[in-house]
Amino acid sequence: MADKVKILLCGDAEGKFDALFKRVDTINKKSGPFDLLLCVGNFFGINNKEFGPYRIGDKKAPVATYILGPNKQDHIDLYPNDDLHNELSTNVYYLGKRGIFTDSKGLKIAYISGIASSNENGPWTYNESDISELCDIALKGNPSFKGVDILLTSQWPADIVEQKDKLDVTQQSELLSYLCMKLKPRYVISALEGIYYERAPFRCPNLSDNDMEIATRFIGLARVGNPKKDKWLYALNLTPMEKMKIAELLQKTTDETPCPFNFFDLEGKIFKSKKRKNPGHQQYFYDMNAPMDDQKKKSKQKKARIEFDQDKCWFCLASPTFDKHLVISIGEFCYLALTKGGIVEEHFMISPLTHFQSSLACTVEIQKEMAKFKKALRKFYARNENVPVFFERNYKTSHMQLQAIPIPKQAVRELQEIFMGVY
Ligand SMILES: [Zn+2]
Repeated sequence: MADKVKILLCGDAEGKFDALFKRVDTINKKSGPFDLLLCVGNFFGINNKEFGPYRIGDKKAPVATYILGPNKQDHIDLYPNDDLHNELSTNVYYLGKRGIFTDSKGLKIAYISGIASSNENGPWTYNESDISELCDIALKGNPSFKGVDILLTSQWPADIVEQKDKLDVTQQSELLSYLCMKLKPRYVISALEGIYYERAPFRCPNLSDNDMEIATRFIGLARVGNPKKDKWLYALNLTPMEKMKIAELLQKTTDETPCPFNFFDLEGKIFKSKKRKNPGHQQYFYDMNAPMDDQKKKSKQKKARIEFDQDKCWFCLASPTFDKHLVISIGEFCYLALTKGGIVEEHFMISPLTHFQSSLACTVEIQKEMAKFKKALRKFYARNENVPVFFERNYKTSHMQLQAIPIPKQAVRELQEIFMGVY
């Protein structure tokens, strides 16, 4: 079926790239083509020599490969240090520290890289603010949020193991258990334990009126090429949940267990204690469950209806209200247009062809094409000694636009100081 996404999931590669990609190539030829290969845990190991030929282009990953970030300081330098250049080699992409990635068929993949740490927030760690920011990306301004298809983490969610299975897990975090309850993934994929483990599905309870109890399955994957031959590569054939009927998502299976997590315990442990210690930062956690009075509730519902009617979206190319005469160029995923009532003559915008709320919600393909359009605009403005100021907007619509306004090159420093609040 065209709607289905064929994906491969992989545990710690730890530098065994030839073994990994050889196996993927075989499976891809036999039962593919696969759309994505998603790698969790340690992608790099102690010896990463095998990556050399991939980096210089002599060898190529057979399937578009997306990897999580480092889990230790030693590996930081192996990753790109800015989010725009996320390609490690042809077909191998670093997803980033945390975020949500929607593939071209609509599969929604949330991810968080690294190891939980309350003391430091480095490139290989995450903490409770990363978790609440990730929840915000998914939930804020998105009242129709139902869940994500996949959650990729390197560590395991704490308490995920069924008691009867008697497994000792060393790399686990309650932050991830909390994240599971908020994001409601259909699949959670983790590694780092060097074992393969799959448990019975469970449903996280509803946290708000709009919620649905979606079944979550956990898969812990072993190391690539491990001598015990524990499973390290897992194939899934998934219909993105946004294309599924609600009844399908709610359909019970016979082997379900109760949810292993307790939301209020977790929330209390993770956020409340922190707030007491740190009274200056009480607002960073956005509470989706805060009680609203009726008046507010009504206006919020009304607003949500307007925002999510995509037929009336001014920025969706297929929408009848779209102003085609302003368009300059249409790419594969984005378009470049003049703005309606621009601030200056050369005020442009770059926007995805279909409905995406923010650049954070955009697919990697969209982000890449946007980067190309940005580059072209820089060149265009440079002919008059101007440089662009880019800013993102989705006011009164939930369709993002990256707007560009030219300013004289000499004004860059001054503007930067104004933005930084130096004045
Ligand atoms: Zn739209």
